[in-house]
Amino acid sequence: MATTNNTTPAANAPHFPEQVTGMYILARALENVGIKNVYGLVGIPITEAAYLIQGQGIRFVGFRHEQQAGMAAATEGFLTRKPGVLMTVSSLGFMNGLTATANATVNCYPMIQISGASDPTMVDMNMGTYEQLDQFNTAKPVVKAAFRCSKAEDIPSAVARAYRAAVSGRPGGVYIDMTTPALGQIMNREDAEKLLYKPVDVYSPVAPNQEAVDRAVEILTSAKHPAILLGKGAAYAQVDDKIKTLIEKYNIPYFPMSMAKGLMPDDGPLSALSCRSTIMEKADVVMMIGARLNWLLSFGKGKWNPAMKFIQLDVEPQEMDVNVPIAAPVVGDMGLALDAILAKMEGAKMSADPAWVPALQAETKEKAVKFQARLTANKSAMPMDHWTAIGAIKPILEANPDIILVNEGANTLDDVRDAVNMSLPRHRVDCATWAIMGMGIGSAIGAAVGTGKQVVAVEGDSAFGFSGMDFSTICRFKLPVTVIILNNGGIYNGAGEPMDKTTDPAPTTLDINARYDKLGEAFGAQTYYVQTPEELTKALTESIASKKPCLIDVQLAADSGAESGHIGYLNPAPLQEIKV
Ligand code: ADP
Ligand code: MG
Repeated sequence: MATTNNTTPAANAPHFPEQVTGMYILARALENVGIKNVYGLVGIPITEAAYLIQGQGIRFVGFRHEQQAGMAAATEGFLTRKPGVLMTVSSLGFMNGLTATANATVNCYPMIQISGASDPTMVDMNMGTYEQLDQFNTAKPVVKAAFRCSKAEDIPSAVARAYRAAVSGRPGGVYIDMTTPALGQIMNREDAEKLLYKPVDVYSPVAPNQEAVDRAVEILTSAKHPAILLGKGAAYAQVDDKIKTLIEKYNIPYFPMSMAKGLMPDDGPLSALSCRSTIMEKADVVMMIGARLNWLLSFGKGKWNPAMKFIQLDVEPQEMDVNVPIAAPVVGDMGLALDAILAKMEGAKMSADPAWVPALQAETKEKAVKFQARLTANKSAMPMDHWTAIGAIKPILEANPDIILVNEGANTLDDVRDAVNMSLPRHRVDCATWAIMGMGIGSAIGAAVGTGKQVVAVEGDSAFGFSGMDFSTICRFKLPVTVIILNNGGIYNGAGEPMDKTTDPAPTTLDINARYDKLGEAFGAQTYYVQTPEELTKALTESIASKKPCLIDVQLAADSGAESGHIGYLNPAPLQEIKV
């Protein structure tokens, strides 16, 4: 009997839906919320997920150490106001990455750490499974929010909620525990796609109340010696024009914290960058915009005018009154707060003493002359000291303002921060609130990948040691990053003498004769070894022009640089006293 030859499938034919894994769902979820870059280091159980992430058109930047991948994610977060994403394996990979995520939380940088994790039911029963660690609870105290995905169905929601948690309110680090069962779970593609969604209004900016705005404006306009302190929260908020209007329209001098440098030009007519002590002592009103009165500002005590009235603009209500009472807290989103303040100020008159700004300008001028003399004082001495080397670096960086400057070390940090003027916002990334070492190379990579801009990292030799191997990542991804190492052969410096009972090197001693340029050579970078300011000028000029991975090893004298740089006072006792 002839059968019908109809090609359309019978209604009752078996249907095999296409199937996908949790790893695929993770890649789709990241793409769906707009993630462009993932920084990480693969291994069990996330290797396949990384390939699938690349398959979604997301850049996967593979590192040599998770901590550096995390620093990159955090830096992208700070510079772009979108969360950077770090992906790691379980146990040690998770722990290495967590250092950077904790640092991001402390600094209010938005980032998401996603770590592969063992089956939580086995971890909970302490069965000794592969890389067993209760990562979820380990992460919790140092992150803003934490999620655990035990099923593939949880992944889209975890990613969307992590995104919102990272960027809304006070930004910070968020952790997602991505368990092996969730990653390996198989689902129908159609069902999985239905779970994906784009979270609405992720930033959820909230305006301050009018009473708070009125109070702040009343105090600011009646000040005799007003000043504005800019913090990295102001830089992060990307409200540059509103800040410029407030400062210029009302003629208010400003001084920046290190990562707020360039938000307003460091050498602008109202810049009081070098008059910090004068402002602390003589100002009567300081408006803090996205800065905290923490250790970096002597907790608002000591030198500060005891009659000072602080106005503080911050999204975090609990930041108010932390160390001193705040006369006018303005809690809310920076952009909305500034809009409300500017609206209220319209037509208002400032009561500032007309001699206040000219006095700060005169002090600035005087200090600039002294500072310039310091940069050139030992110009012909060999080997160079920090100031001579920085004297060569400064004019080149200032002539290329769109280069992002990454900076870490002790003396290298202090001296470069003080010497190099910035003129564009979000172009300086450094050790920040925790003053940590070991952020430089990762941050340089995150800055280059996250913004597409050129980067110069100025590193102390000790600081570079924490992350040096990831210079190879700069080379593998052909990033336009120049790393300058100021080598004085030690932590602080290389002139420390060991205690009598040992022939070992002193605890602060590293390698004054190390040729870091050879390390760059090993990975195919353009490299230089320089001993004079002229050689350094030539090397940096060529490096920037090349737009290629470059490494410049700068030979300094072993006795250049002070113990603990500018913050030696934080040591429990001076080094000499310990040695008796
Ligand atoms: P610095 O080290 O430069 O003084 P901090 O990191 O100590 O800066 O302070 C930054 C502050 O900015 C934090 O208290 C944070 O809550 C706040 N902040 C960050 N983003 C915003 C925003 N969009 N609106 C308002 N405040 C913000
Ligand atoms: Mg050193």
